[in-house]
Amino acid sequence: MKSKVLLIYTGGTIGMMQDAKSGQLKPFDFKQLTAQIPELNKFDVTLSAVSFANPIDSSDMQPSVWIEIAKIIEKNYDKVDGFVVLHGSDTMSFTASALSFMLENLNKPVVLTGSQLPIGMIRTDGKENLITAIEIAAAKNGNKPIISEVCIYFEYQLYRGNRTHKFNAEHFQAFQSANYPVLAEAGVHLKYNQAALKAGNGKKLKVHTSLSPEIAILKMFPGITQNVVEAILNAKNVKAVILETFGSGNATTQKWFIESLQKAIDKGMIILNVTQCNAGKVEQGKYATSASFKKMGVIGSYDITTEAAVAKLMFVLGTTSNKKEIEKLLKSDLRGEITV
Ligand code: ASP
Repeated sequence: MKSKVLLIYTGGTIGMMQDAKSGQLKPFDFKQLTAQIPELNKFDVTLSAVSFANPIDSSDMQPSVWIEIAKIIEKNYDKVDGFVVLHGSDTMSFTASALSFMLENLNKPVVLTGSQLPIGMIRTDGKENLITAIEIAAAKNGNKPIISEVCIYFEYQLYRGNRTHKFNAEHFQAFQSANYPVLAEAGVHLKYNQAALKAGNGKKLKVHTSLSPEIAILKMFPGITQNVVEAILNAKNVKAVILETFGSGNATTQKWFIESLQKAIDKGMIILNVTQCNAGKVEQGKYATSASFKKMGVIGSYDITTEAAVAKLMFVLGTTSNKKEIEKLLKSDLRGEITV
């Protein structure tokens, strides 16, 4: 039996063309994409495709679009063996993270891919990315899919989506997963890192479509002023703030800063401590500069990426308004996004 794969085309460089007049890159019709890759017709996979009516540059990504993608996956879940989501690389890590939380009990592969150069360009990285992503989405071991999670495939590597970060705006190798091993590498053979793969649980897919936008990011830098900190902590309709700290979760110990945080927490604000570093984890209390965080109830987020933290907060706040439950979920490994 041939595997069936559904391509979901959302936009991104992979499907863009240079506008003759302005020279700017703009999305083009999906039909032109398949025409650009005749190899797709030679696959031993039954391919079908859905394209967004208006493909977007992923810098325009919104939670409402994540919901749209999740619903397409839900609608087609029993009809195909795997999904490939074509997406711009700029916010691909956010989308992969969001989908990982939205798709509970995922037992099939959802592989996001894109490219740094449009598919029509001679040196494009898009062809290899797309062809191998399809191969991964179709791959089975006996009757079972090899992958049962949301991943990103880019430049010969398959990553757990909610562990990734776009770290390079020019190189073909645009993503890294500093705190979790690569799931597979493509060379002459596709080599899966079996020990790192999430095992399917065989349960029924549950799609969560309630996401809360009531979050903010407060990035620490030497010299940050009380004015800026308080503007964010007191912003309207913000229930949770990602505090992007230095190193293993440290920040200034100035009195006004500690008092501002304490006040926000006392009012019910959730503060999630996420490190600015790409690798390693938050360890509140390791240094004196983070000791007070632990006491006042700032939540340490282990080794989560900022991208996954944004998605997790939107998901958790969309799921419950019970503070204890929110804290419990944030401290738990829900989809392989943190190492507890
Ligand atoms: N700006 C583009 C996007 O994210 C870049 C890319 O496709 O890689 O949609």
